[in-house]
Amino acid sequence: MFDSLSDRLGGVFDKLRGRGALKEQDVRDAMREVRIALLEADVALPVVRRFIDQVTEKAIGQSVLRSVTPGQQVVKIVNDALIEMLGGEEGQGGQAAELDLNAAPPVVIMMVGLQGSGKTTSTAKIARLLREKQGKKVLMASLDVNRPAAQEQLRVLGEQVGVATLPIIAGQQPTEIATRAMQSARLQAVDVLMLDTAGRLHVDQQLMDEMKAVAAIATPRETLLVVDSLTGQDAVNVAQSFSGEVDLTGVVLTRMDGDARGGAALSMRAVTGKPIKFAGTGEKMEALEVFHPSRVANRILG
Ligand code: GDP
Repeated sequence: MFDSLSDRLGGVFDKLRGRGALKEQDVRDAMREVRIALLEADVALPVVRRFIDQVTEKAIGQSVLRSVTPGQQVVKIVNDALIEMLGGEEGQGGQAAELDLNAAPPVVIMMVGLQGSGKTTSTAKIARLLREKQGKKVLMASLDVNRPAAQEQLRVLGEQVGVATLPIIAGQQPTEIATRAMQSARLQAVDVLMLDTAGRLHVDQQLMDEMKAVAAIATPRETLLVVDSLTGQDAVNVAQSFSGEVDLTGVVLTRMDGDARGGAALSMRAVTGKPIKFAGTGEKMEALEVFHPSRVANRILG
């Protein structure tokens, strides 16, 4: 994850720290290298521009260059800007954007995304986390009537992680399944109901309409978009398309384990305004991390 970016930035920072005094030109040279590193990591161009402008202004505008450890301070400015780019709110120390489950149960989490993004896997991973780490009673329901094996896949994963799934009734439409899931969750006094909606190959109107109809029935507290980090800026574009249609509350970025560049993670918040709440880091059910901007920044900066 972020391997090449980490290497490149490490090189730039070693140079900065190695110098005693810093001139404005030194900072500008370093920022040129940071710019190239971010572009090579596939970060969206406007995001890179804003980042470099902000950091440069802070680094040369203040008393940084006249301080005793200018290199250290520039590195700190880059670190803070990186945390912000990853979604850390200023003053909050780069904390994770946590799931909001503050509603009358059953609290509904609706999972949305394109086919193959890792939606079903992520649904089960989050259900496991809620059960094991927060002691929640969780019910999962697959509304994916498009992909024949989808409902069965969720059932099998549910067995693996010890989370109940709504019994499958062949031939039901997604809105009917959503209604039944709500009834069942209420009857069983479930804390959290997770709805795994159908994916599509592309963003299309039918998909959006279906999602809206389900949302109208289930009034989700969280609507999480699952996107594949390996698709880079496409993941960010998909997030933009979805957020124009439904009220997304966060993003789950999957396949971070295979993503050496990290462009989607680094651009998502700035481009879409949506926080990354979880990162998928493998196929196993335990391979899910709560996305902490400060920790990710530390990983990048080594
Ligand atoms: P869906 O069509 O969006 O529901 O996608 P699935 O949940 O079926 O996932 C598709 C494939 O991606 C499966 O083989 C998953 O095991 C795999 N997958 C999902 N998330 C991750 C992840 O974070 N890392 C890796 N390496 N594989 C993942």
